[in-house]
Amino acid sequence: MKYRIGIDIGGTSVKLAAIDEEYNVLDKLRFPTGEDCTSESIVRGIIEHCRPLVEKYSPEAIGIGSAGRIDSVNGIVITAGNLPFRNEPVAVKVSEAFGIPTFIDNDGSCALVGEKTAGACKGYRDSVIVTIGTGIGGAILIDDRVVRGHNNRAGELGHFVIDRNGPECECGLHGCFEQYASATALIEQTEAAVRKAPDSILARLSENGINGKTAFDAKAQGCPVASALLDEYGRILSDGLNSLIHIFQPQIIVISGGVSRQGESLLELIRPYLVQECRVVTSSLLGDGGIIGAALLGTEHAR
Ligand SMILES: [Zn+2]
Repeated sequence: MKYRIGIDIGGTSVKLAAIDEEYNVLDKLRFPTGEDCTSESIVRGIIEHCRPLVEKYSPEAIGIGSAGRIDSVNGIVITAGNLPFRNEPVAVKVSEAFGIPTFIDNDGSCALVGEKTAGACKGYRDSVIVTIGTGIGGAILIDDRVVRGHNNRAGELGHFVIDRNGPECECGLHGCFEQYASATALIEQTEAAVRKAPDSILARLSENGINGKTAFDAKAQGCPVASALLDEYGRILSDGLNSLIHIFQPQIIVISGGVSRQGESLLELIRPYLVQECRVVTSSLLGDGGIIGAALLGTEHAR
């Protein structure tokens, strides 16, 4: 059996695992990037956590998916949103540490490669993946090719404008899709609803902290406040998905990232508002699509 290693650098943590030829995810590790992390500390963390996987599996390649703008040819993360990378040769340093070919690409593209190889959009030639987490990312597959743009930055699906009178986004625009539909946005909406309705079930469930799941849990317990909040969230999410359907006409949209773990509870929020026939599903890879796709960089699957 041959193995590869996949590394997924996200906004709050780095996940690593070995992948076998049947795309099984083995010995998955995770470490937090933390608010005071530096590019050096993240790269050092990657190398430290990768070492036991390299020793155990003797991988033929290592692949890295990172948020941000990536120079895949030279192995560099140019900038990366809320991560501290600035022209950081992440793949070069990992390759030098182990003497193993190391590839790097945008995390959205990696998630799509994972989904089209081992997940929900296997067999589809035209698909869109929308990753809903700290922000919103994604990737587009047209005629079985990942759309990259001339600078490898295509697929920033969180940054089209929903409301130009909205707050300023870190990308420089105002009122971007991710400011309304990311997990971060859902948490802010939950916090606002709790302030307005301090006696609600939602408020009670929020006492031990709020995350992207809190509103779903409260709705499941019959909370009308959570139900109204999620209906509005579903409307905004469908506004974005409808726009993507109009532009790309995919056969399927796969939603991945933290919020996708709500599965059917998420899909039922969206379905009433979709204006065109399009299959919309949540990822079946349990958050591992990005790792699997990263591990497959450098193979024919990642064309
Ligand atoms: Zn933006």
